[in-house]
Amino acid sequence: MSELSDEVEAVLRAKRGQPEGWASSAGAASIMRANVRKNTKPELKVRQLLHAAGLRYRVDLAPSTTDKRRRADIVFTRLKVAVFIDGCFWHGCPEHFVPPKANADYWGPKIARNRERDAETTAMLNREGWTVLRYWEHEDAVRVASEIVRLVRKDRL
Ligand SMILES: [Zn+2]
Repeated sequence: MSELSDEVEAVLRAKRGQPEGWASSAGAASIMRANVRKNTKPELKVRQLLHAAGLRYRVDLAPSTTDKRRRADIVFTRLKVAVFIDGCFWHGCPEHFVPPKANADYWGPKIARNRERDAETTAMLNREGWTVLRYWEHEDAVRVASEIVRLVRKDRL
């Protein structure tokens, strides 16, 4: 089984609190893969709310001119605002990240590296004149969207 599939299953177990060995089918793994990579539900809800508020934005775009691998979830190109909605598992949310019991030696450092990378990305974008907004996926989508709308509309950034 590929590393990605293992990761996907670990996420599933972590999210659902289910024991090792659950959801080993390729079907479940592929659904989760799609879910963790892009268009996670909280992000979709925020996007829908922003759209309903009349804002237009780019999705899954690399804002930086120097590193095209760092993609933001929602990007306001003219205002140079990059929004990240970080998954609680992958980005190590202090409230919700619990390393899977199996391979804890693997997951702890891996998630720590993800967090370092997030901090690097924020710093890099700040240096390039971007305003970076980061939210956790567990945050209330209405509150998150309201804050983005307020900031972008008032153009106070
Ligand atoms: Zn969380």
